[in-house]
Amino acid sequence: MTMEQRILIDLSDIVGIEYACSRCSGRYLIPIDKLDAVIAQCPNCRQGLVSEAHITSGKRSDADALYELRTALMDTQGRNIGIRLQLSNSVFDGLASRAKI
Ligand SMILES: [Zn+2]
Repeated sequence: MTMEQRILIDLSDIVGIEYACSRCSGRYLIPIDKLDAVIAQCPNCRQGLVSEAHITSGKRSDADALYELRTALMDTQGRNIGIRLQLSNSVFDGLASRAKI
């Protein structure tokens, strides 16, 4: 017998966006419906979190992509769309290792 484990989430399960600073490990969780402005720099150490410009002209900036992600999530959460998002297996591995602690 072969078993397969998958983690699927409904769009309505996504309620926030977390910024994670690579320098100081600070984390900032913002509810999607409260995301009015992108946090471009870490409030603690001033490390850049989200680029407001893209190196390659013609592509969206990280900030623009983040706004579009927020808009898409807010727009789809109120609808009865029969889809779920699958998370990578590394998420399951992380949950399993936490359960052993
Ligand atoms: Zn920081």
